[in-house]
Amino acid sequence: MSDSIKDYELLKTEIRKHDHSYYVLDNPQISDAEYDSLFLKLINLEKKYPKWVSPESPSQRVGISPVTAFSTHQHAKNMLSLSNCFNDEEFFDFDKRVNKSLNSSVQTKYFCEPKIDGAAVSLTYLNGILEIGATRGDGETGENITSNVRTINSIPLKLIGLKDIPEVLEVRGEIFMPKDEFTRLNKLQEKEGNKLFSNPRNAASGSLRQLDPQITKSRPLHFFAHGVGITQGISFSSQEEVFKKFESWGLPVNPLNTIAIDLDDCIKYFEEIDKNRESLNYEIDGVVYKVNNLDDQNKIGEIARSPRWAIARKFPAEEVKTKIIDINFQVGRTGVITPVAKLEKVFVGGVNVSNCTLHNIDELERLDPRPGDDVVIKRAGDVIPQIIKVIAKDKNRASKVKLPKLCECGSEATLNHAESWEVREHQTLIKKLDSIYEAKDLIKNANKGYTLHKVQQRAAFLKCMGGRSCDARIRGSFYHFVSRKAFDIEGLGKEIINRFLELSYFKDIQDIFTLENHSEEIEMLEGFGSKSVENLIQSINSSRNIELHRFIFGLGIEEVGEATARNLSNHFKSIEKLMSTSFDELITLDDIGPRVASNIMQFFENDYCKNMVSELLPHLKIQNPSLINQDSHLLNKTIVITGTLEEFKRDELKNMLLNKGAKVSGSVSSKTNYLIVGSNAGSKLAKANKLGVEIINEDQISDFLNEK
Ligand SMILES: [Zn+2]
Repeated sequence: MSDSIKDYELLKTEIRKHDHSYYVLDNPQISDAEYDSLFLKLINLEKKYPKWVSPESPSQRVGISPVTAFSTHQHAKNMLSLSNCFNDEEFFDFDKRVNKSLNSSVQTKYFCEPKIDGAAVSLTYLNGILEIGATRGDGETGENITSNVRTINSIPLKLIGLKDIPEVLEVRGEIFMPKDEFTRLNKLQEKEGNKLFSNPRNAASGSLRQLDPQITKSRPLHFFAHGVGITQGISFSSQEEVFKKFESWGLPVNPLNTIAIDLDDCIKYFEEIDKNRESLNYEIDGVVYKVNNLDDQNKIGEIARSPRWAIARKFPAEEVKTKIIDINFQVGRTGVITPVAKLEKVFVGGVNVSNCTLHNIDELERLDPRPGDDVVIKRAGDVIPQIIKVIAKDKNRASKVKLPKLCECGSEATLNHAESWEVREHQTLIKKLDSIYEAKDLIKNANKGYTLHKVQQRAAFLKCMGGRSCDARIRGSFYHFVSRKAFDIEGLGKEIINRFLELSYFKDIQDIFTLENHSEEIEMLEGFGSKSVENLIQSINSSRNIELHRFIFGLGIEEVGEATARNLSNHFKSIEKLMSTSFDELITLDDIGPRVASNIMQFFENDYCKNMVSELLPHLKIQNPSLINQDSHLLNKTIVITGTLEEFKRDELKNMLLNKGAKVSGSVSSKTNYLIVGSNAGSKLAKANKLGVEIINEDQISDFLNEK
């Protein structure tokens, strides 16, 4: 009997159906042996007819060899993060805000979902085929992890069903590791002498970011879809409809999702989920309420990277008791010495905790923790653990903790006070400022009744006076530089940095980028081999391509956190411009007060820092935020792309258009200026013709982009 491609297609469809029953519905329809024989049949056919094999074949989950680094993926629509509420009142306030912006007196219906504690991803399906899988990243740009996402069995490579498959469907959801699989994985890690994962979320995101998809495949990951990003060729009216459609396409959705008709329903849902939380085989940290009607969602919009039409109701933070072993003082990258309580290890909020920061000297004074005392610590979600109460030992209590006179580098440690001020209008906070002069200025210039309340905060902190030569400080700046939100260099953990510092492979930050010169020596070190050195050098090399805001953050300028670094990046758009700025220009920026401005000025005036930056630059390729030319002929033009493009990748084309200031829309309307048309264009082309929208064919795109 001769094989036909039609039979091959039918076989793939059948296997896909069984995969769906097994991995998504958890309800297999055939025995494992029967499944295996179908799969074998597929493999044999594909061996015989290699030309037939397409990427969405069930046999192609791991078809791609390891990569050296992930490429970045610009989200066509920002991946937002939810704001939180912690009690009924805060949820009711949210509901009031929703009704107010909808100008409605009718009870809004909410779609309720358990909030999975996993890794957020975006999956793009083009005509039903999985094309791109990307991490959330910072919400604007993530990492392209398509080859890893493909290994997750519950994620369909091809949507099932033939009806209503849209041209473009961006599915958003959460990848997570089930609790039982997490326990099993950690047992295996322990047996093989590998590092244990602290919780299922870390295990999931660590597994997703493996450069070798084989490793990801070996990790038991699962997926729940929870929303849509960009779409084309379909429109949804409600969140509920989105979920029904997802289900019909074989995408896994959480069976506990439901619609609430009123606020009582919402509260009951939360209580029910909270009660049954332990019995679920995945970690959740609350529930999510979303306005069900999608038109309403659009009307309500978003603010500061969070949708205003959804909110997460978090479970209360878990509190546990443990014992203080000691109080240590740790020196950070800025020379600030922070008291840290060393604790008897305790499991709280999903992780093991054995250290807990006391933040500053005031906190140390207020709590007065001493070795041997009991403490109550609290931890919720991503928040760092916090000591909320010290229970003094009743007999033989240790003496009060003394502040060190010297830093561990031997330099003097002095006590300083940070001051901050708040301008308020009645009870409402208008602005936090770090100088009284600026605060007074603001009040003087404001025409409303702003007042400078008695809000001076004095947080005392210890600081090493050894300057930038302090060993502890140098160590801290290395830790900071390689951290996830800065250069994100995998494989350069604290212990390894300490070792390289001791061995003088590292002296200054810029030495990271010449570490390769020590490759042979490192290979000889205990715990290293040629493979791990190669991996390390690779992850250093892939970090050379760095976004400007990450670079600025990585420099470790005092009080310049991630958000400030982003502001600076967006304002100055190049490191050279930032370096030649003035104090006066800096303080005009939002969120930058005189103290932060002077920290920035001091950093770039300091010879050591100036030298560090100029020695770093030749090693890096800094990606500046794109400059939109205000004269661009596409500025504010609304453009729709439809059909199949041959030369251009749709994502890339979209980015090119966005970079020229255009708006890219999913549907044709009277506001559309241009329609870019590939082959097989359908209803959009017809509509555009009817509305008289200018049509751009694929071979005209280059000219269209470059037109003066
Ligand atoms: Zn020091």
